Amino acid sequence: MGVLDALRRERGKTDLYECRNCGTAVPEDVDECPACHCQEIAHYEL
Ligand SMILES: [Zn+2]
Repeated sequence: MGVLDALRRERGKTDLYECRNCGTAVPEDVDECPACHCQEIAHYEL
C-alpha cells in the first residue's frame, strides 16, 4: 500500500483545490493561486 492510498483511506475522500481562473492545482491551505494570483480557489470533493 502506498502513502497516498493510506491517506485516502484515512480521510475517506479526496479533496481537490484548483484555481478557477487558470486551473492550476494548489495545496488546500493556499488561498491565492501561485500561478496567476487569482484568489478564487475552487474546491472539489471527489
Ligand atoms: Zn490561477
